[in-house]
Amino acid sequence: MNKTESAAVLEANDVSKTYGELEVLKDVSMEAERGRVYALIGPNGSGKTTFLKILAGLLPPDSGEVLRRTGGAERAVGYLPQQPSFRDGFTVAETLRFYTRLLDEKMGDGYVSEALGDVGLSDASNRRVSGLSGGMTRLLGVAQSRVGDPPIMAVDEPTSGLDPEMTGRIFETLSGVADNGTAVLLTTHDLDKVVRHADKVVLIYDRRIAGSGSPDELVNEHERESLASVFDSVVRGGGRG
Ligand code: ADP
Repeated sequence: MNKTESAAVLEANDVSKTYGELEVLKDVSMEAERGRVYALIGPNGSGKTTFLKILAGLLPPDSGEVLRRTGGAERAVGYLPQQPSFRDGFTVAETLRFYTRLLDEKMGDGYVSEALGDVGLSDASNRRVSGLSGGMTRLLGVAQSRVGDPPIMAVDEPTSGLDPEMTGRIFETLSGVADNGTAVLLTTHDLDKVVRHADKVVLIYDRRIAGSGSPDELVNEHERESLASVFDSVVRGGGRG
């Protein structure tokens, strides 16, 4: 990645969010650069999805700000929800073609087949979306949320409920998206894959960022032997060492 392109494409400053009486996020800040994978981790209910939606611009924070430096990008953020769903009755290729035409009528079949190749779905182009496995549906979701090459991608629990092989495929695909110059933000519980694929981990706990850095940095800073052990020490209050 060229140094001049490495300035933060996304910056969240002192973001807070409350649902009714429930304070979910309090003065949370982070930055994200193109070309990197950011994993938001934390226990269930810690606010990962809320934060992801705020970063993606789908949910307004109560206070604080989110800056997206996406230049003239037609589509600033690609968002993939936890359970993407597509209209029954269409094939994989027809589905993606539909989304590309929404953005740019000139985007043709070449784009569609290349995009399906990037996510490993070339062989499934003519299959009906209703017959796809959960993992293939997510891969199609990745292709759909990438249409127009948004500089930021926000992906909510892309591997929940998937087997290890498909989980690996999804993480590898998202790493490839990042390598092409996208800031990929995802929420996950899969700490093994985070260690392997995430450049930066953001651990959300008790309304705040309880730790952030590369997996190695977090392990060293907390004097633990693994990211899972850092997670446990923070979440279960084990403290440092
Ligand atoms: P996570 O993704 O880490 O599981 P969420 O961001 O989904 O956490 O939720 C954080 C907390 O906010 C949870 O307690 C959840 O029940 C609550 N919450 C999420 N969305 C809403 C909403 N629209 N209205 C009220 N409470 C919500």
